[in-house]
Amino acid sequence: EKAMLELEEQVNQLINQILLKLENQHELLIGQCRSQVKLTNTQEHILMLLSEDKDNSELAKTLNVSQAAVTKAVKTLVKEGMLEAKKDKDDGRVTYFVLTQEAQPIAQEHEEHHQETLGGLSVVLDQFDNQERQVIGRFLTKLAEKIED
Ligand code: ZN
Ligand code: ZN
Repeated sequence: EKAMLELEEQVNQLINQILLKLENQHELLIGQCRSQVKLTNTQEHILMLLSEDKDNSELAKTLNVSQAAVTKAVKTLVKEGMLEAKKDKDDGRVTYFVLTQEAQPIAQEHEEHHQETLGGLSVVLDQFDNQERQVIGRFLTKLAEKIED
């Protein structure tokens, strides 16, 4: 059996493993995407957010990406027939985006992929008892604080 790494090294390796898996994506999802249409995670996530709430001004903040990246992704989605631009009835200067028929199942699939991800994390966490889970929770809080130092 391979000797256990020092915990510091293990945490460091995990972080790098996650970064490698992420590449240019803005989120880590467990399991495969089951959508028939090939979109990026960011595009799918935008569809999911817009299907829940028509306001697109908060997208960049929620996604943790630049406004320019959101604009670009939305433009592509419009071009691919996933989103339709609509002018606000009361204020013509305001444009919002609605999902087309084709986009609905993709938004749905992405939502399910998020659920599957949480389920995957549950499977891992269920292997620990309450006391251990408290330690894990404390560790994650401290690590999150350290990263923001
Ligand atoms: Zn997907
Ligand atoms: Zn997502």
